Amino acid sequence: MSRVALVTGGTRGIGAAISTALKRAGYKVAATYAGNDEAANAFKAETGISVYKWDVSSYDACAEGIAKVEADLGPIGVLVNNAGITRDAMFHKMTPQQWSEVINTNLTGLFNMTHPVWTGMRDRSFGRIINISSINGQKGQMGQVNYSAAKAGDLGFTKALAQEGAAKGITVNAICPGYIGTEMVRAVPEKVLNERIIPQIPVGRLGEPEEIARCVLFLASDDAGFITGSTISANGGQFVV
Ligand code: NDP
Repeated sequence: MSRVALVTGGTRGIGAAISTALKRAGYKVAATYAGNDEAANAFKAETGISVYKWDVSSYDACAEGIAKVEADLGPIGVLVNNAGITRDAMFHKMTPQQWSEVINTNLTGLFNMTHPVWTGMRDRSFGRIINISSINGQKGQMGQVNYSAAKAGDLGFTKALAQEGAAKGITVNAICPGYIGTEMVRAVPEKVLNERIIPQIPVGRLGEPEEIARCVLFLASDDAGFITGSTISANGGQFVV
């Protein structure tokens, strides 16, 4: 029987590549999103993947949404915590709202999504939790104190929870992408990309969303059962841990 995989923020960008790769590999996939119905409906029409709308920063919405996905598709075996936002500002100008929105989505969202699936995974003695963090959680980035703090928090979450899940057949790992050619990054003016961003990347190019998706496929597989609490840095050599 094919496993069920849920990808938060799975309708656009990196998440869309992850959802699509999981579907191609034979998983039953649920892709969630926050509010962009147009993108989600277009993604659903193109891929046939089921889409669900809720806000990962609400625990109750996550518990309710997960119950619906499990009623539709079956118990979740693979959870990819990919949904994320930025609210960039230099620290002296950062508002409490910019801080909270990013922490609530990018860090508390992992608790809200993982907690409701955890007991079921323990009971079934299998689970794969894959958290999409960021290079900026590893190295820190000016103008992104909120984002860097949340993404670094995701790595602590991963390492601690991995220890709790290990004896129950649940692995918990993180991926830290560098610059990936999503809509957001491709929207940066070409001059800035070519003169300021790409020169910082030793392989000399942006990453592709599919390159992150392939890391997810591996971590989700039975072959990766001995890997837990780990971080894959997929950044073209931009930051070597
Ligand atoms: P996008 O902005 O392209 O897509 C984000 C997705 O997350 C969308 O589906 C969006 O839904 C969803 N989302 C946002 N907020 C919420 C929320 N509160 N509840 C539920 N869903 C939400 O992001 P990327 O593909 O660029 O990034 C994906 C992940 O990878 C993020 O965690 C990001 O931090 C991380 N990352 C990205 C890098 C990059 O270069 N792009 C580099 C390093 C890390 P909707 O469509 O409704 O808005």
